Amino acid sequence: MFPQIGFLGLGKMGSGMAARLVEAGHNVIVWNRTRAKCDPLHELGATVATVPREIPARTEIIISMLYDDYSVEEVFNGPDGLLSVPVEGRLFIEMSTLRPEKAKAIARSCGEQGAEFIDVPVSGTVGPARSGKLMALVGGSESNLERARPILEDMTRRIVHAGPVGSGSLLKLVLNLPLAVYWQSLAEAIAMGHAGGLEIETMLNVINDSGGGLSALSHKISMIVENSENVAFDMKTMIKDSQNILAKGAEYDIPMPAMSVALDSYNAAHSAGLGDADAVAIVRFLLESVGSSLLED
Ligand code: NAP
Repeated sequence: MFPQIGFLGLGKMGSGMAARLVEAGHNVIVWNRTRAKCDPLHELGATVATVPREIPARTEIIISMLYDDYSVEEVFNGPDGLLSVPVEGRLFIEMSTLRPEKAKAIARSCGEQGAEFIDVPVSGTVGPARSGKLMALVGGSESNLERARPILEDMTRRIVHAGPVGSGSLLKLVLNLPLAVYWQSLAEAIAMGHAGGLEIETMLNVINDSGGGLSALSHKISMIVENSENVAFDMKTMIKDSQNILAKGAEYDIPMPAMSVALDSYNAAHSAGLGDADAVAIVRFLLESVGSSLLED
């Protein structure tokens, strides 16, 4: 039996990643704020902790896949948090998409207690999370990456060492910028084509088979065409990441007009009640807001 691994955060991504680790033969102890989400992992064979601070006493390697800076702060530094107990020698693998500064701050808190930390946000959505085909973007020392590597390999198809702590989080923001702008540009293109009488499915398939295609699009065509309620990467997460991208652009004094416009659209969609919808709902949202009859197709 492998040594035990801690896994905190069983949302859309974390639930699949933790299940993957259990199925790969790891001995996993899980925690999630909403306890019911631990049940499927328990049925697969994972142990369940009631508070984060139970985990460091039982494991050397602790993975977290939470939501944002705030949730990571709660889970690490809250009263029942991971750092409220001795953690010397532990390695924290933080996989949420955070501001790079937050990753560095948590790394410092870990270091003050004799623990190691790497930030490892991922590229890929719920399907790759469940099948172990994510891409890991690692910020941290070479030695910590090597310590984490056998576990990361069970969750990923590719591991990229971006640089010191915080670099994984910065690289993740870099990846997300063109994606965020892409969905906005796709929405504009589909609105234009539809206004001129083109069919949405035809347009999406042709775009996908052209220079304007994107691997992310090929997985989402049916969601857009069918106006599916499935959710992989939700609108509010897109907004969180877009805000962090714009903050980074402002810090480096880099104008980001395309990102700003895209964020305005995601915010408008959120205000219209689409915060929990998949981010590609931006395409339907734009069509609706320009009065298209497409929604009746
Ligand atoms: P999600 O489904 O919303 O899950 C978020 C997780 O964070 C849940 O376990 C949630 O617990 C927990 N959480 C939120 N606030 C908390 C708090 N204050 N204290 C403790 N736990 C808290 O999000 P997701 O889609 O899995 O995404 C997870 C991370 O991966 C995010 O940083 C996201 O940006 C990134 N990401 C997502 C995708 C994607 O396609 N979805 C792809 C790449 C990266 P509860 O269950 O109690 O709410």
